[in-house]
Amino acid sequence: MSRTGKPEWLKMRPPSGERFTDIKETLRERDLNTVCEEANCPNLGDCWSGRNGPGTATFMLMGERCSRGCNFCDVETGGMEPLDPKEPQQVAAAVADIGLDYVVLTSVDRDDLPDQGAGHFAETIREIKDRDPGILVEVLIPDFQGEERLVRKIIDADPDVIAHNVETVQRLQRPVRDRRASYEQSLSVLRQVHRESDIYTKSSLMLGVGEYAHEVYRTLADLRAAGVDVVTLGQYLRPSLSHLEVDEYVHPDAFDTWQRVAEEELGFLYCASGPMVRSSYRAGELFVDALLQ
Ligand code: SF4
Ligand code: SF4
Repeated sequence: MSRTGKPEWLKMRPPSGERFTDIKETLRERDLNTVCEEANCPNLGDCWSGRNGPGTATFMLMGERCSRGCNFCDVETGGMEPLDPKEPQQVAAAVADIGLDYVVLTSVDRDDLPDQGAGHFAETIREIKDRDPGILVEVLIPDFQGEERLVRKIIDADPDVIAHNVETVQRLQRPVRDRRASYEQSLSVLRQVHRESDIYTKSSLMLGVGEYAHEVYRTLADLRAAGVDVVTLGQYLRPSLSHLEVDEYVHPDAFDTWQRVAEEELGFLYCASGPMVRSSYRAGELFVDALLQ
């Protein structure tokens, strides 16, 4: 554990390589944004190249502004814009052009829309699958304020994985997430997907925001009890001085321990755990590996 300046294990390697440049060009041509670039994600080189298997990229749907304001997140709040009706086709075309095998779709929250964006999400999944049913699609969805009929729209579009993040332990929900989010609401979304479909479910939490080990364990156990198949754990990094402070830089060995606990003790299909791990970290490779085991 380290509570002072950024430790050595968080130093980033800049992404490079032919595949990286190709993907970047295709995205610019189609005027599309990926979370990978927007968030300056440290894993970009590894995920896009898919060095050991399917390449993964994460597309952000429904704009760059969110109707919520979480204290850890760098996305701008408010000033919501209308949806781009061509976005589902544009994303599907880019996925086909790039030749991705595994795509992650996520979005800002759109509490301002009558269906909170669930229909747009579902349409994008269908567009991608219509072009190539072999592409694996993971969606990282909002909580849709716990409205089951909206979660069902996503289930009905039949993605391969539905993810929804609890982000942190129960006690720290309020200081970390927007007031409209809650631990119980997030668990209920995951429970519903598990109950109503055989789609794989996934969730993530950030470490280093002030949680205790017993709370992390409890969260993992709650996720497993909700039927969640896959979990990821990563270090929280403060996007700017106006965001929540980092409480602790968690040592890589502690992340390894959580991975063992999650997989061997609690029975998750897999757990990606490490300082640089993000929700979609090498999702394609890890998912396919886990299924082949
Ligand atoms: Fe960021 Fe998601 Fe929170 Fe919006 S709901 S502020 S995109 S973490
Ligand atoms: Fe993109 Fe997610 Fe990989 Fe980061 S971890 S590069 S956001 S797919």
